[in-house]
Formats: sequence, structure tokens, C-alpha cells
Amino acid sequence: MEVTVHSSMCVASGNCGLVAPAVFANPDENDGFVELLDPHPSEPEAAAAREAEYLCPSKAIQIDRHPIPPPRPVPESDSPTARPD
Ligand code: SF4
Repeated sequence: MEVTVHSSMCVASGNCGLVAPAVFANPDENDGFVELLDPHPSEPEAAAAREAEYLCPSKAIQIDRHPIPPPRPVPESDSPTARPD
């Protein structure tokens, strides 16, 4: 299992640290935002990590998936500020 967290998507709900404290932490010094403790947990922590992924309100946790790619640039012709010729 490979656990990935997208910190910029975290809303500091604290669910992950409660459900899977061996995998995630939400330290006060980080204002409750997620900190990944173990990116390769074994059972039973792996099951807890899957539950945390399910419960994460912002979908900041991904398990065994490719990271979210950066947004594609909008072609100038599709830009809302583009003017027709
Ligand atoms: S459950 Fe999701 S939103 Fe909540 S602290 Fe963990 S990663 Fe952040």
C-alpha cells in the first residue's frame, strides 16, 4: 500500500488522525493540518488508512493511486478573456 496526502487540499478536520493515528497526525503546531507518518502501512493500519481516505472530507488522502496532476494550462482560445477576431 502507498498512501499519499495532498496537503494543499487538507481542511484540518482531524478525521485521519483519529481513525488511523499510526499513519496520520494532525499536530497543533501544524494547526491540525495532516502530517503523513507512515506512507507504507501494513495491516491493520492499512485498513485504518483506507477508512481515513473514505472519511476525508476534502479527498486529500489517496491510496494506491497516481498523484493528482497539476492543472493543465487553458489554451488562449478557450480563455474567458480571449476576444474573437
Ligand atoms: S481527514 Fe482529510 S481534511 Fe481532515 S485532516 Fe485528514 S487529510 Fe486533512
